[in-house]
Amino acid sequence: MSDLSSQNIMYLPGVGPKKADILKKELKIVSFEDLLYYFPYKYVDRSQVYKISELNGNMPYIQIKGKIIQLQTIGTGRQQRLTAKVTDNTGYLDLIWFKGHKYIKEQINPDREYLIFGKPSLYNGQINIIHPEMDMIKSDIPPIHLGLKPFYNTTEKMKSGFINSKAIQKYQKAIFDTYIGKITESLPSYIINSQKLLLLHDSLKNIHFPENDQLLQAAQYRLKFEELFYIQLNILKLRNQRSVTIKGHQFPIVGEFTNNFYNNNLPFDLTHAQKRVIKEIRRDLGSGKQMNRLLQGDVGSGKTLVAFMVMLIASDNYYQSCLMAPTEILAIQHYKSIIKMAEGLNLKVALLTGSTKKKERDYIHSALLSGEINILIGTHALIEDIVQFKNLGLVVIDEQHRFGVEQRAKLWKKNSTPPHVLVMTATPIPRTLAMTIYGDLDVSIIDELPPGRKPIQTVHYYHNRRNNLNRFIRDELNKGRQIYVVYPLIEESEKSDFKNLMEGYEYMQRVFPDFKICMVHGKLKPSEKEEAMKLFAAKEAQIMVATTVIEVGVNVPNASVMIIESAERFGLSQLHQLRGRVGRGAEQSYCILMTSHKLAEDTRKRIDIMVQTNDGFEISEADLKFRGPGDMEGTQQSGLPFDLKISNLAKDQKILQYARNVAENILATDPLLELTDNQLLNRQLSKLSKKKLDWSMIS
Ligand code: ADP
Ligand code: MG
Repeated sequence: MSDLSSQNIMYLPGVGPKKADILKKELKIVSFEDLLYYFPYKYVDRSQVYKISELNGNMPYIQIKGKIIQLQTIGTGRQQRLTAKVTDNTGYLDLIWFKGHKYIKEQINPDREYLIFGKPSLYNGQINIIHPEMDMIKSDIPPIHLGLKPFYNTTEKMKSGFINSKAIQKYQKAIFDTYIGKITESLPSYIINSQKLLLLHDSLKNIHFPENDQLLQAAQYRLKFEELFYIQLNILKLRNQRSVTIKGHQFPIVGEFTNNFYNNNLPFDLTHAQKRVIKEIRRDLGSGKQMNRLLQGDVGSGKTLVAFMVMLIASDNYYQSCLMAPTEILAIQHYKSIIKMAEGLNLKVALLTGSTKKKERDYIHSALLSGEINILIGTHALIEDIVQFKNLGLVVIDEQHRFGVEQRAKLWKKNSTPPHVLVMTATPIPRTLAMTIYGDLDVSIIDELPPGRKPIQTVHYYHNRRNNLNRFIRDELNKGRQIYVVYPLIEESEKSDFKNLMEGYEYMQRVFPDFKICMVHGKLKPSEKEEAMKLFAAKEAQIMVATTVIEVGVNVPNASVMIIESAERFGLSQLHQLRGRVGRGAEQSYCILMTSHKLAEDTRKRIDIMVQTNDGFEISEADLKFRGPGDMEGTQQSGLPFDLKISNLAKDQKILQYARNVAENILATDPLLELTDNQLLNRQLSKLSKKKLDWSMIS
């Protein structure tokens, strides 16, 4: 469809420079093709015409046929509105406009019959329709949309620039009227035939102007299939390319470091799941190929230990490794626990973060180059170009969802042969999403918690039960336990959030004067944060008041109560992460979700799920359903490979699986897509990746 993708939307009849600018800014629509791929978000059946006497206030969008018998402007200033009385001889109805009166008043022709479309609502016992759509009925020409009418999402800016859903439909019509025949097929005919798909032209036509429900569904299926198919084909082809072109370091030896640790330092037995995962990883490390593996395991499942054992194997084979964490608190914690596990092993472990002093930093840089350091632990500071290794063989990335793909790629370049990469995450990702974002990674799953853990009890309290809560906290404190109290702190509303945090801190000091309370939040200097963490970890402070900076990875096993204030403001996976800070020791742990009385429907569902289950996978599936993949935590930064225009990873799991199978089958016979028959596939892939680049430059 090269023709349509190079046609500037400005030149489409009815658009022009001003509207083109709005379309570009609001929807990133630049070409005719972009517009064609801007799909309706819903369809409404307009084959039926209701009588006014049949209407009630609970109906969805409907249409009636009637005459305007009265038109008047009511009120002044902002209150001003235009009302039109309509009748169809079965009753009367008011149409109301709050905006654009003048224009509408000029357009409306009293005494003519109109097809009126909108959502009826009940106000003061009267049915009315606010901002209806009107089509004049001319006896000779039938109105353009009887049947299924598409609706397009529009923004406020678009509406004030006179681009509403109806306008978009007109533009679509202009494209089809003028450029019919220019839409060339984007899937090879052998796929179309074997999958019995609708042709691209027919699919686009029916998605915008459905002939009937059946064709609409066929069109949707075809477009979803194609979208998901190319994403899978892209990921799987990249994986093939990588395994052909990139060799991996070989780690054949299990030597002294590993054996000493296993025999002398390992404080407990590995779980079955840990053993299985280590085996899977070892197989990769001996394969001669570069490992790219995702290690998923719920909070507390013991991923750090797995990572450490893999790093020991790297050391046994004379390779260096590094472990990158998303926050300084977490990097320090990893450093400490690894130092402890490495006691007596004669292993050199270093910590590098943004606040490492210059002298130490210089030393680390040179000791990495000389090979003196075996294991480097740190934050983003690891990625800086100045950090060079003698022989980096393994990179472990903890809590991957905080890192972008580009940052991952930077670590690759730290050795002429790229290091093995192990990505760890405790935010379980639904399978479909994992296939899409990490489809090029192999996946290992730790699906078992270490023995002896008691499931965390989660309860939901309204604010008015604060006295009960305080009594409960005091009981737990008296038993020698420690408590987290977490406040939301979200950037845009930072000031008032910060005030809440401070007030919460002072409140706890007033209620629990006999205990020591420490506080951690993003505005503290790293040294201050560490000081507070230290106090808490050493049990010198019993209560920690914090923001979500403690969300990920923090491990203080004696802490057994997690109180989440204004829990309604957190997303599901964030709540689950926070809850994972407790339940790390042998004691019964609790998570208490504090909310106000008024809860929106989906907030209540979120809270209910938290109370019902501790299973991170269940929670992430629910999260995907509630919020859609675009908003899922963890995906915003790593990013979907492409914008999904029509498919929905929560709803279209079957199509995705199917599309992946088709892609796998094609690559099984033609791993790098070299056959003549497959050149269309290659062209589409490069077109998609180019598009992605263009967009990132615009936005
Ligand atoms: P996560 O997977 O969330 O990163 P961690 O690696 O922080 O979990 O481990 C959580 C806790 O479980 C740590 O205190 C760790 O020492 C402990 N742990 C790990 N593996 C085992 C095991 N096999 N048996 C008992 N405790 C374990
Ligand atoms: Mg961890």
